[in-house]
Amino acid sequence: MNRAEERGEELVAVRQDGRLKQLLRIHLGPGEYPKEPSVGTPPALTPALFSAYRDLEDLRYDFPAVLLEADSERVAMPLSELIDELIARQAPAGAAGERLRRDLYRLERTIKALSTNAAEQRLDKLWAAATERCLSQATETSRRKELRSNLQTARSAVNEQGRVIDCDAQIASRFFTHAWDCIQSEQGRQARETLEELIAELTAIIDADRMRSARATSADALRTAMGSEHAGGIDFERLSSMLRSSKHQRPLKTSRRKRLHAVLKVLEAERRRLGTGNGKFPRRSQVAESIGDSCVDALARLDAELQHVVELFKAVRIARLEVENRYDEARHDAYFAAFDQNHLTTEELRGLPPLFVHMEDHAFDAENKSALVEILTSDLPIKVLVELRTIPDTLSQVAGPAGFGGWSTSLASMATGLRTPFVMQTTVSLLPRLETEVVEGMRYNGAALYCVYSGPAEDTAGVSRYLRCASAVESRAFPCFVHHPGRGEEWAERFALLRNPQPEEPWPIHNFNYEDSDGRALVQEIAFTAVDFLAMDARFAQQYVPVALEDWHPNMVPLGDFLAIEDTKAFGKVPYVWMLDESNTLHRVIVRRGLVAAARRCAELWRSLQELGGIHNSHALRLLEAERRRAIQDPAPESTAAAAPAPAEVATAAEVSAPKAEGEVETTAAPVTDQAYIDTELCTSCNDCTDRNAMMFAYNDAKQAFIRDAQAGTYRDLIEAAENCPVCIIHPGKPVDPDEPGVDELLRRAEPFN
Ligand code: SF4
Repeated sequence: MNRAEERGEELVAVRQDGRLKQLLRIHLGPGEYPKEPSVGTPPALTPALFSAYRDLEDLRYDFPAVLLEADSERVAMPLSELIDELIARQAPAGAAGERLRRDLYRLERTIKALSTNAAEQRLDKLWAAATERCLSQATETSRRKELRSNLQTARSAVNEQGRVIDCDAQIASRFFTHAWDCIQSEQGRQARETLEELIAELTAIIDADRMRSARATSADALRTAMGSEHAGGIDFERLSSMLRSSKHQRPLKTSRRKRLHAVLKVLEAERRRLGTGNGKFPRRSQVAESIGDSCVDALARLDAELQHVVELFKAVRIARLEVENRYDEARHDAYFAAFDQNHLTTEELRGLPPLFVHMEDHAFDAENKSALVEILTSDLPIKVLVELRTIPDTLSQVAGPAGFGGWSTSLASMATGLRTPFVMQTTVSLLPRLETEVVEGMRYNGAALYCVYSGPAEDTAGVSRYLRCASAVESRAFPCFVHHPGRGEEWAERFALLRNPQPEEPWPIHNFNYEDSDGRALVQEIAFTAVDFLAMDARFAQQYVPVALEDWHPNMVPLGDFLAIEDTKAFGKVPYVWMLDESNTLHRVIVRRGLVAAARRCAELWRSLQELGGIHNSHALRLLEAERRRAIQDPAPESTAAAAPAPAEVATAAEVSAPKAEGEVETTAAPVTDQAYIDTELCTSCNDCTDRNAMMFAYNDAKQAFIRDAQAGTYRDLIEAAENCPVCIIHPGKPVDPDEPGVDELLRRAEPFN
C-alpha cells in the first residue's frame, strides 16, 4: 500500500470516529497566541515531573550561592558545596560525625531560608544569625551545647568569605559584576606590575647615566651623593677621574637620553592614570567605569582610547628595546616615527582597557545589534552579557508571527560560527556551577559573549525563578554550551555542551511514580520537553487542554513518543502530557500543535548542538559504519529502489488482503476527480488555507473549509496550501492551466495529496 492509499484509509478511520475527530480538533485547532511578557498568576496545571520540586525549601541545590572575596581562588560557589566540603574535612567517623553532618545541613537550610528573596548579606553575618536560630529551636541543654560547639568549630574552619545571593531577578547582574570585579583586580595588578618593572629598568639606565655625566661624576657631586658619614678616607678626585676615563662607562648619547626620558614620561603618566595609591587596585571607581550598558558606547569609548593606547604601546615597545639594548636608531627611528594603530599587534589591541557591557534583550535596537556584530567580529576586549528576559526564540512558533525577541537564541550559535569570540549560553540557575567558564571568558584575550536566560524581570507568585531557568536547560529550550577559541583549533577542543542532563538523548527521560484510583503504585517514563517548560507560563494556559477519563482514546500518544514519530506519519495521533492540578490529581492534557512545533524545533537545534559537541556526530557515525563494513567485507547495501518489491509482488500482496469482516463498512476511498476539493468535515479550522488565499478557500457555516474558487489563484497556491494543511485534507486535483510554469514539478508535489 502506498502512502496515498494509507492516508486514504486513515482519513476514513478518522471520519468515522467522532471522539477522535474532536480530540484532533483540539490538538490541531488554533490557540490564542500570547503577546505580553510573562507575568501574573501561575498556571493551574503543572507538569507531573515538577511534583518533586514543588517545595524547594527542602531540596539542596545550587542556591543560595556565595560570591567569594577577590583574594579567593574562585569567584563563587554554591553554599551546599561549601557545606559538603566542610563536612568532608571536619566530620569524624561515627555518631559524633553524623550529628555534625546533620547540624550543618540544618544550618544550611536556615541560611537558605534567611537569604531567600532577601538582599545579599555577608556569609559570616548570616552564619551567626542562622546559628542563633538553630540554637533557639534546640530544646535539650546538652544538645544545645553540642550544637553551639559544632557550628562554631565549623565556622572557624570556613576559609571562604563573601556575600550570599539567591536566584532572584538581579542574579545575572550581581554574579557577572562580581566576577568582573575579581578579574579586573587580578589583571589590573598584573598590568601595573609590568608597568612598574619597565619604569624601574628605565630609571636605572637613566640613573646610571646620570652618575657618569661630567656633573654627576665631579668630585663634589660624588662627595655629596655619598654623604659625610661614608666619606672618610675616599679620594673623590681619583674616583671622579676613574669614572670619567673608563671606556665602557661612556655617557649615553644625547638622542638616546632624550628618548629614554620621553618614554619614561609616558609610562609614568600611565601609572598616575591607573592610580599609585596604596589602597585596593584597581580602585572600585575604575572597575565601575569599565562596566557599561550599551555596545554602541563601548565601541565609541574604545575608539577614544585608541590614540592613548597607540602612544602607550609605542612607549612600551621602545622601553623593551632600550632595556635589552637593542634599539637601533638607523632602523627604529623611522619605524616609530610612523607608528600608528595599524602597527598594533592583535595582542596589543586586546590590551585596550577591557570593558564589560550588560544589556537586556529588549534593549537591543538596530544600532546596538550592529555594534554587537562589530564587537564579535573584532579582537577587541569587550565582554557582552545579553540577558534574556523573554522566552527563548527557539519557541517563537508558539508566540505567533510576531515572535519573542526573534534573534536571542540564535545569537550564541551564530557567534560560535564566527570562531574568534568566546561564547557562553546558559541560564542563571547554572551560574554557580559555571564560574570557571565565566571567568575564562573574562580572561580571554578578545571579545566574549554571554547569552544568559534569567526569566521575566517581575517575579511570578508561585513560580520559582530557579525552577523556571533550570527547566529551560532541562527541556532543551535553552541548552547550555561554551565555545572557547583559546582551547585549541579543533571543535572537540573548543566547543563543549555543559550540564545538559542526559546529553545523549533528544530529551531527558524520568520515571514518574504515582497511584491510580485503586491505590496501585504505578510508574511512567516521561520525557521532559519544551512543552513542560512553557507550562510555567500562564500565557500559554490555553495551549494545554485536559481530557476527561471517559474521553481518552487509543490514538492519544505521550508527547515524547509523538515527537519520535516523523511529522508526516503523525496524522490521526493526538499528543498529550501528564499534568497535576492543585489537588495533585493527574490529568492527560492535549497539547496544541503550536507547542509541539516548538518542541520539534528545540529538538532540531539540540541535534545540531549534539553534533558540534561530538554526540552522535553524523560524520563520525558514517566513518564508523564504513569501517565496520570494510572489516567484515560486507558489500554496500543495495539501493532502496533495488530493494523494493517488483510490481508483480506488490500485486500479489494486494490480492491476498484479508476478506471483509461481516458488518464491516465499505471504505469510502477518496473521490477520484481532477478537481480540487477538501475533506471539509475533517477541517480543524486552523485558518492556514483561508489566510493564504481567502478567495480560493472559505469556511462554511460550521467554520470548516471548502474550495470556494479553485481558479482564484494558481495551481502552485493550491499545492502550497495542501502541503501546509496540518491534517492533509486539501486535494489539489489537476491544474486548471496545464501550461502553468513548473507544472511538472507541481504535479509531482500534488501526488501524495490526490
Ligand atoms: S482545510 Fe484549511 S482550515 Fe482546514 S485544517 Fe486544512 S488548512 Fe486548516
